[in-house]
Amino acid sequence: MKNQVKFNTQVIHGGQQHDPTTGAVMPPIYHTSTFAQSSPGVHTGYEYSRADNPTRTALEHALESIENGARGLAFSSGLAAIDCVMRLLKTGDEVIAMDDLYGGTYRLFTRFYQEIGIKFHFIDINDTDLFLSKINANTRLVWIETPTNPLMKLANIEAIAKITKQHNILFAVDNTFATPYIQKPLDLGADIVMHSATKYLGGHSDVIAGALVIKDEELGAKLHFTQFATGATLGPQECFLVLRGIKTLHLRVQRHCENGIKVAEFLENHPLIDKVYYPGLPSHPQYELAQKQMKDKFGGMVSFTFKSKAKEDAIKFLEKLQIFTLAESLGGVESLANHPALMTHASIPADKRAEIGITDDMVRLSVGVEDIEDLLADVQQSLEG
Ligand SMILES: *Cc1c(COP(=O)(O)O)cnc(C)c1O
Repeated sequence: MKNQVKFNTQVIHGGQQHDPTTGAVMPPIYHTSTFAQSSPGVHTGYEYSRADNPTRTALEHALESIENGARGLAFSSGLAAIDCVMRLLKTGDEVIAMDDLYGGTYRLFTRFYQEIGIKFHFIDINDTDLFLSKINANTRLVWIETPTNPLMKLANIEAIAKITKQHNILFAVDNTFATPYIQKPLDLGADIVMHSATKYLGGHSDVIAGALVIKDEELGAKLHFTQFATGATLGPQECFLVLRGIKTLHLRVQRHCENGIKVAEFLENHPLIDKVYYPGLPSHPQYELAQKQMKDKFGGMVSFTFKSKAKEDAIKFLEKLQIFTLAESLGGVESLANHPALMTHASIPADKRAEIGITDDMVRLSVGVEDIEDLLADVQQSLEG
């Protein structure tokens, strides 16, 4: 019953039960490593908290509900979640990924998995001929983000899923930027959804956490086994915080979207600004796809560059901000600003950054849920002051 309700109800009730012994409305934070057995091998379903912990179970059921999957898994970070998927592969396997990925994902792929003989093709996945030309008998996984970070490029999840299904390739979507409030990749044909729950799911910049939600039960069990065997699980305290965050996801992201488009429009009309990267602007090259796939909700992430093309202008702007905090990360209630080339994407080599368009005059904003007038005034005084 609870799984058939609408999203705004799912975020609060999905997969949740009141504590059976006390009626506690929120799940207790089970700070325990182990669980008593009445006879060897006879237990309540919980044996040891690396395998399963009741607070983590509560979060994982919420994840299943909001992303519409068979199995949710909570990890100690977003990268630990990605790493768990990568452990499905072996030497000789090939991965097709987008050419504009979170810097840490790119680092994990190239510095670790490439080193052990997995081959990566980083491509413009919207070029279908190019995409098809990279598929061969060794292709095991397609990995995308949409919108991407920081260029806000979109990938057509449904179109990619048609191709991966035809070729029997696993298809994973990093849904960190959009959140299931905006798009549900499993409903569009993906096999795995990944989140840095550090961002919008947690929503308050107070926890590092990751998540996978898997469409297929069997694949979910395999990834749960991998997580159990390698150990990157999320602690009960953090599980509680992420679960609490999820309960207001719809309210927060709605406001992020409202504020995001206003900041994007303000920047686009400002004489000092060159390009604004935001899927909700008609000037976005994939505006039509954004309307369809993101259902007219475009999120809180906005990137832009200066007409001067000067790195100094970007740095000056970032130093002057007063309400926006200059910090890595995104997706919290407070507005943050970031210089991708020097901060979040510094691990991508300079020539590679230039090739994909992450220029030194680029600024990325995570527009928070403060009053929009204060946010616009802050952007204006930092540009003009
Ligand atoms: C932050 C982030 C990650 C990595 O997540 P952590 O929780 O920092 O390990 C992966 N993908 C995207 C899009 C991110 O923003």
